[in-house]
Amino acid sequence: MRVLLVEDDKALADGLTRTLRQSGYAVDHAPTGELALRGASEEHFDLIVLDLGLPGMDGFEVLSRLRADPKTGGIMILTARDSEADRVKGLDLGADDYVTKPFSLPEFEARVRALIRRSQAVHSPVLQFGRLTIHTVSKRAQIDGEDVELTPREWGVLEYLLLRAGQVVSKEQMLQALCGWDASLTHNTIEVYVSRLRAKLQKAAIRIRTVRGFGYMVEEPADALAR
Ligand code: CA
Repeated sequence: MRVLLVEDDKALADGLTRTLRQSGYAVDHAPTGELALRGASEEHFDLIVLDLGLPGMDGFEVLSRLRADPKTGGIMILTARDSEADRVKGLDLGADDYVTKPFSLPEFEARVRALIRRSQAVHSPVLQFGRLTIHTVSKRAQIDGEDVELTPREWGVLEYLLLRAGQVVSKEQMLQALCGWDASLTHNTIEVYVSRLRAKLQKAAIRIRTVRGFGYMVEEPADALAR
């Protein structure tokens, strides 16, 4: 899942970037609204975390321009401005959540997870695919109740594919979702992760189909279709 952090306070941005990356998100950072708008017009983010007090273009202006594009994902305002008038304005301009500084990291992360679930139209934190269960909060996968050992990148690929089960996903879309502007994954690495996942998920009868020249698709498990 891909997050764009729009924040001019470098220390805060670095801290949040580290926290979110540890949780497996691909994070990009834009220190101004102008850069954020440019980034968001070129690539898709599942969530944009937006400061209001930015140098140059104000956060509210950035918010309304982001919302002018119907494809923009979730937006969380993260700001020191805590007046009721600002909260109302932010939500009315299309923010999905409004968090004021200072804030606690665990609550921030829980709100990020909730918004990402909403942006994927997935409301339960636990998803079941045949014999495979995935816990999106603790980032654990289990087959018949037994843990499957996954690296954070393997987890990222699996979650991305499962949330789009039944849809064809290109390697390019997966790369964009899994790494930020500065990372260096290639189509080959995606292939490696997919083949490891196929091996690890064999018992669960999850089939990751290769769609030649394009990408992959997870088929719904056969027993789920038979029911
Ligand atoms: Ca600021």
